[in-house]
Amino acid sequence: MSAKEKIYSIVAHDAHDDRHHGAISVPIYQTSLFSFDTYEQLNLARLDEQENFVYSRGNNPTVRYLEDKLAQLEQGERAKCFASGMAAISAAIMSIVKQGDHVICTHQAYGPTREFLGVYLQKFGVETTFVDGSSLENWKRAVRPNTKLLYLESPTSMMFQLQDIRNCAALAQSIGAQTILDNSWATPCHQNPLMMGVSLVVHSITKYISGHSDCVGGVVVGSHRFMDPLMSTEYMLFGGIMTPQTAGLVTRGLRTLPMRMQRHETSGLKVAEYLGRQNYVRKVNHPGLTNHPQYELARTQMSGYSSLFSFESLESVAKLRAWADRLQYFRIGASWGGFESLINVNALNNNDQQTGSLVRLYIGSEDPDDLIRDMEEAWRCVTLSPSEGEIYEQNAGISQDG
Ligand SMILES: *Cc1c(COP(=O)(O)O)cnc(C)c1O
Repeated sequence: MSAKEKIYSIVAHDAHDDRHHGAISVPIYQTSLFSFDTYEQLNLARLDEQENFVYSRGNNPTVRYLEDKLAQLEQGERAKCFASGMAAISAAIMSIVKQGDHVICTHQAYGPTREFLGVYLQKFGVETTFVDGSSLENWKRAVRPNTKLLYLESPTSMMFQLQDIRNCAALAQSIGAQTILDNSWATPCHQNPLMMGVSLVVHSITKYISGHSDCVGGVVVGSHRFMDPLMSTEYMLFGGIMTPQTAGLVTRGLRTLPMRMQRHETSGLKVAEYLGRQNYVRKVNHPGLTNHPQYELARTQMSGYSSLFSFESLESVAKLRAWADRLQYFRIGASWGGFESLINVNALNNNDQQTGSLVRLYIGSEDPDDLIRDMEEAWRCVTLSPSEGEIYEQNAGISQDG
């Protein structure tokens, strides 16, 4: 059985659990506390609040069920689910660093993560250096005697740049530092960072893992060595827990994760390849395309691709927004990972001083041919009626520059 086939069985199969009366779907334990007949029983349970059920800020059977599934999928020993991806990310970071420590982070990491590291943590005396994470040399050069954490997000979620996971983890180990990797894009279906030496994996569950755009959540996964202290401090003291209701919803979504990811992979590649042939597209940023500069690295550390990618264009933001407005299937919105396709158009603003526009697309589970036809028709409308584009640009206050 291949690793991919195994994932199908992990999400579909449960060992029979007598405690749930044979319920095939894990019940939602909508309770804040668990009570005992005697003080002796309570005291015994309290000896290990993370394994026993005492209070739902620490451990709840519905949330625990999801945590065990996610730990298995990431091949970690323990997972803890949080109220959001950011709650998981900030808890994971705080569990590793202390006052006076130094962090190195890829400069394309998720915006709020960069703000947490680069701005917020400064008030606790933690310094962060941001590097172009695509080069291992940059990570090495940034190392200081007090470097305690290398923070990775591979691929990144706007420009889809990879980091060499195995070598970054090895570098951290050689200097006595730890690594955290945000695996929201690839999911455990396509990438297993713990198997490549990463200390802790984090996810925004809000995206592919829940998969239905109906909840917000996060998870941290790792070995007992890192997870046990995190559970008794950052988890219990910050209290940003996932509710049993949300855990029930996420578990339902998780049942179809490998099937969804398989479809997202093929549809995403199909649309990315189509866009690569359009004359208004200068460059498609998708690590599964053979012309991605890190395509070979991608093949050594990922077993598949998901369906969030971007393209760069010399067309104006205003014209591309007029195009996006005309799309029938793509909604305009900030998140991704659900069933519905999404689009975002912004000015290209990267370190290479390039000008132009950046369009980020999320390919949902619709028929990719419908999506392609939709883009084609909308583009024809925008280019055939330039007056409309001009009016749009005047209203947007942006000059027409091709
Ligand atoms: C959305 C996102 C997060 C944050 O997750 P929330 O659930 O919104 O807190 C973190 N990392 C990446 C890559 C994301 O896309």
